[in-house]
Amino acid sequence: MAVTGRCLCGAVRFEVDGPLRDVVVCHCGECRRWAGHVWASTSAPRDALLVSEQSALRWIDSPESETHARRGFCSDCGSSLFWEAPGRDTISIAAGALDPPTGLRTTREIYTEFAGDYYRPGG
Ligand SMILES: [Zn+2]
Ligand SMILES: [Zn+2]
Repeated sequence: MAVTGRCLCGAVRFEVDGPLRDVVVCHCGECRRWAGHVWASTSAPRDALLVSEQSALRWIDSPESETHARRGFCSDCGSSLFWEAPGRDTISIAAGALDPPTGLRTTREIYTEFAGDYYRPGG
């Protein structure tokens, strides 16, 4: 069953017709600035993601990434939506952009040592 999602303003809409990974929360500094807090994402095979409305979708190169990852967002409303790196056959998708019920669970936290100083990971 396909899961649908969108940015805040609806200018970017997508659906995922394929298996979604459980949600991973990234506490790294780059994700924190980009997402405004932590980056919580599922992921799916690239060819399972169909971006049906994408005129406002923009990509930036992830500035501190050694893997030349890039980050996709809505240029109209600013919603953080996608993360992908070359050489991977999956793309990360913002868990919060999905329409509920997602059926997903948050199962892992990464880069907790880089968490912001205003909260505790897992707390
Ligand atoms: Zn938008
Ligand atoms: Zn991160």
